[in-house]
Amino acid sequence: MRGSCRGCSGKNLVELVDLGSQPIAHRLLSSPEEKEFLHPLAVHYCGTCGLGQICDPVDPEELYRDYNYCFSSWKPQPHIVDEADMICSQTQRHSAFEVGCNDGLFLDLLSKRGVKTLAGVEPNPFASQLAREKGFRVYTDWLSEPVCQQALAEFSGFETVVARQVLEHIADIDGFFACVDRLLIPDGFVLIELPEIETALSMGDGSFVWEEHVNYFTEPVIRGMLRHYGYEPIVSRRYDFSGVSIAVLARRTQVRAATWGLQPLSGHAVTFSQKLSGYGTLLRETLGAARDRGFLVVLYGVGCRACTVVNGLGLRPAIDFAVDDRSERQHKYMPGSRLPIRSPQALRDRVGPILCLLAVNQESESAVKANLSSHTDQPVECISLFSPNDIWLELERARRRLGLQTVIETGKR
Ligand SMILES: [Zn+2]
Repeated sequence: MRGSCRGCSGKNLVELVDLGSQPIAHRLLSSPEEKEFLHPLAVHYCGTCGLGQICDPVDPEELYRDYNYCFSSWKPQPHIVDEADMICSQTQRHSAFEVGCNDGLFLDLLSKRGVKTLAGVEPNPFASQLAREKGFRVYTDWLSEPVCQQALAEFSGFETVVARQVLEHIADIDGFFACVDRLLIPDGFVLIELPEIETALSMGDGSFVWEEHVNYFTEPVIRGMLRHYGYEPIVSRRYDFSGVSIAVLARRTQVRAATWGLQPLSGHAVTFSQKLSGYGTLLRETLGAARDRGFLVVLYGVGCRACTVVNGLGLRPAIDFAVDDRSERQHKYMPGSRLPIRSPQALRDRVGPILCLLAVNQESESAVKANLSSHTDQPVECISLFSPNDIWLELERARRRLGLQTVIETGKR
């Protein structure tokens, strides 16, 4: 295992959670017998700078060999309007370059707000083509020095560089900021949006762990990192998106702090593993009791967070099948657990109560609940599995209805 911190190079790495051997979460199976690539999945936390990290990440060649065909337009992202406004209120709106611009949704928002020159880089060939069709100059590639050179040959430098939900995927943080420095004009800005893990840690919610995220951040760590690379945070916002996300707009100062700063382990990090294990025990017990009382137990949503929770907490034996709205996922099998994935229409013939484990991000839950009630008139009990919902309160409600001991009485929380 890599023995030093990816951020500060310190040796003070503490294990946050070890989920053991896990499959690639986005790789759905065509048959329940299909062989899977497995990898060890553990997250460590630097007791000096506070950066969470997978010390032994899966080789990107293996991880991204089959593109994850995910387009911006698939996910509700109401917060990006606020981010576009944030950029436009602080800059001259000359130009912006987006790292991982996907199908150009965010570039389009900037364009509509009067940003004159827009470009981006996106490795997914299908998404980058969609962005080009919207009229943007987009390089189909990963961010690299040659891509920066090419962009600077065509444009003379950018006022703002945007990287939304990008840096958590990148092991070479130095290399990333070297590219941002290359692309920006001397007094430019960077907008960084990253998933935040403190909320999940406080809750004992393990769904944030994902092999595609090699870095894990809290807001103080994001600020410390930006200052270390010569950027002074000027505005930051917190959004309930994919769990919790933090966006920070920072101005280039070119004065680099010598270190990432000192962020000792939070109390939530210290107790996380134990809390996660207690939650898993209670959830399995609750699902078992529901089945004993005649409930059909289904998982709604088969995304990456769902995969981590089902496999990490050993929920497979307690779930009958999974449902998902996207037709391209239906008739496949979940990685690891090999739960069959069906259309929500599979609930139509059900006679008897249903316990539905909601494995969708909070911003999608109300739409999913409405969809659920259009497919069945049977009694449905829902348990949300992901923070920022209070996942213990969700469990508590279900346990009360099933006549089980309260969470407090079990002493697990
Ligand atoms: Zn560190």
